[in-house]
Amino acid sequence: METKFLKIDINSFNTEDLKEAGEIIRAGGLVAFPTETVYGLGGDGLNKESSKKIYEAKGRPSDNPLIIHIADLKDIFRITTGMSDKALMLAESFWPGPLTMILKKAAIVPFETTGGLDTVAVRMPDNKIALEFIKSAGGYVAAPSANLSGRPSPTTAEHVCEDMNGRIDMIIDGGSSTIGLESTIVDMTEDVPIILRPGYITMNSLSRVVGDVVYDPAILDLSSDEPPRAPGMKYRHYAPKGDLAIVKGEKDKVIDYIRRQTEAALSEGERVGIIATEETYLNYSATEVQNIGPRDDEATIARRLYAVLREFDEDGITRIYSEDFDTPNMGQAIMNRLIKAAGHHIINLSN
Ligand code: AMP
Ligand code: MG
Repeated sequence: METKFLKIDINSFNTEDLKEAGEIIRAGGLVAFPTETVYGLGGDGLNKESSKKIYEAKGRPSDNPLIIHIADLKDIFRITTGMSDKALMLAESFWPGPLTMILKKAAIVPFETTGGLDTVAVRMPDNKIALEFIKSAGGYVAAPSANLSGRPSPTTAEHVCEDMNGRIDMIIDGGSSTIGLESTIVDMTEDVPIILRPGYITMNSLSRVVGDVVYDPAILDLSSDEPPRAPGMKYRHYAPKGDLAIVKGEKDKVIDYIRRQTEAALSEGERVGIIATEETYLNYSATEVQNIGPRDDEATIARRLYAVLREFDEDGITRIYSEDFDTPNMGQAIMNRLIKAAGHHIINLSN
């Protein structure tokens, strides 16, 4: 299949520019589109054949449900049943924005979209191109991240092209994602909301609006045998090709350890990549040292994480060491992604 490319300037475009993209979705095709979190791989969320195509294009297991993206709050009542007051309050507070809510699905939503579940994930993205595209596509765009299963999520149209060229009908290039990490997922089907995936919107922000909020225990205790409630969280996502280890502990010890390991690995012929911060990167020499940003600038770290992992892949890096980023708000979301990318390989120097 030949993939069309559509470049859109987020600051100057009109409805007409997204007409063809919308028509592709209505006809059952697939279009990758920008959002503030990461790029999405969209199909018609109410068409089971479209959802099947999405799984195929990504190489994704079909028990891993998709998120339906909407552009108008009232549309949520067509695809869900029993919206609670709390869910409505969260929608009003955080949409458009990086919050996905799990709700009971209405009959119109095919099980192919929800991975067989009787609940559905819904989000309204905070990106003008995405919103216009969703409207043009009929209002319900099912989309996972637009990467091949197991690869880091795409935060630019170039990343999407690396993974999806020739596999989907169109890629809309709307520039880099401003957040760069996937949405926070919160299960609203019970009285107390449950965070299934940490993201840009933190537990504290949610609590300020709806009171008590809890975490799915499976995402906190990474050695837990309990399966996570978001089926996708059990897979080893976001994996770079090189072997990634996260090194934790006091700053000087971490630097010293990574330096020694790097030297040994280089002498064994490995190509070594290091994820360091503004404060530390000058301490290292390796095949590739990435300064991901200042330690206390979590927005920058989040935005750059996936791009850094992809660059290592491109440069054939075989061994990666990363410092850890336990920043106050998004730190948990960042570390959740990084730990998965590392397949839980953490070297703790503090004990
Ligand atoms: P992605 O679109 O790649 O960010 O992945 C979507 C995430 O949402 C996956 O981790 C899914 O498991 C999760 N998800 C989607 N629908 C549901 C649902 N009905 N219940 C629980 N988790 C869901
Ligand atoms: Mg994904």
